[in-house]
Amino acid sequence: MADRPVDPEHPFSGIRFPELSHRLLAWFFRNKRELPWREEHDPYRIWISEVMLQQTRSETASDYYRRWLSRFPTVESLARADQEEVLKIWEGLGYYGRARNLHRSARIIADSWGGVFPETEELIRSLPGVGEYTAAAVLSIAFAKPLGVVDGNVLRVVSRLLADGEASGHGPPGIKPANLGQPKKRARALVEASFLHYHPGWINQAWMELGALVCLPKPRCPQCPLSYTCRAYREERIDAFPPRLPSRPLPIRAGSLLLLLPAAAPVLMRRDREVEPGGLMGETHLPSIGALLRRHDLPLLLVRRADSGLLGGLWELPNYPARGSELAEQLARLSIQPLLDTGTEVRHRYSHFEIRFRLIVAVFTDQRRLDSWTEQRWVLPAELDSYPRPKVHIEAMRLLGLVGD
Ligand code: SF4
Repeated sequence: MADRPVDPEHPFSGIRFPELSHRLLAWFFRNKRELPWREEHDPYRIWISEVMLQQTRSETASDYYRRWLSRFPTVESLARADQEEVLKIWEGLGYYGRARNLHRSARIIADSWGGVFPETEELIRSLPGVGEYTAAAVLSIAFAKPLGVVDGNVLRVVSRLLADGEASGHGPPGIKPANLGQPKKRARALVEASFLHYHPGWINQAWMELGALVCLPKPRCPQCPLSYTCRAYREERIDAFPPRLPSRPLPIRAGSLLLLLPAAAPVLMRRDREVEPGGLMGETHLPSIGALLRRHDLPLLLVRRADSGLLGGLWELPNYPARGSELAEQLARLSIQPLLDTGTEVRHRYSHFEIRFRLIVAVFTDQRRLDSWTEQRWVLPAELDSYPRPKVHIEAMRLLGLVGD
């Protein structure tokens, strides 16, 4: 490498790749976390782990991964499962489109490709939900294809290593600066330049692990195997990389979540000596609402969301983007009467907004269908746990004493 002509404009100039790759891998094999997918070469299992790891911490994903594989050990077993069961195993991981896409993709692999996992980038990217990241991760780890994997951790490491691409010294052969304009492209090119003769799957995992364990938002530079060549470290400008975008507060969507009971519920409840005087209207201790339902064998209404879109296919409590008199007007049109505003709110942050639901106990005065959902069922509290539900609804059910902690 020392005899190559110097291109001072090249963003990777000054990086000695054999040394970098060797140090990175040596560090990785000494320090990598023992994760259940770590030694795996089965493309189906790697695919599951990579999809779970998007938006999810490794520790959380590990438990889900083990549960998933004990229920769906092969692509065929996943293809044959009901969507509801798939969503139930995924419950709590969020971004449910990932589970629905895994299920749809498994059916394509099993039904159209004879159960054989694709080995080309073109074919694997034709599967629902498989983008550049997942394709590169599966193909590099399972089939040793030289495709760089760039997640948020790798972007952070590379941004600091290059101090955003300022250049001096030698560049790797075959990579032109013109192709390295954007941070993600540049990071992928740097990772791919570091493969050399090593297994791309290990190198990819080593970069990601370095970002997860050492080059953290608050980096541990003295422990870093790449500090010898890190430009941000050398120039004491670590805080400047990666450049931060100004953060904007999440928009808040306020609404109401209904514990919706059948028409006979208030009569039964008022007969309950433990509730009188005041009946349900005077109830302030939220968990006792669930106890009341159990005592009278009363069901509540669960509704199922459409298959597509946010939280698609999950079961939830009926909910409306309104409160107070606006809510009362909407409910009146649906023959629903509010019985109790609990004054309690449940909140959940999604990537692009925060939802805040006020918990309302209500009753149907005239039994009918709620048109905003694909299906509705009267369900006893003891049956709730068998339905896949969004986190914020599980929290509401817990506060109302309908399900345990
Ligand atoms: S030296 Fe520090 S900033 Fe540079 S790559 Fe290592 S941990 Fe990150």
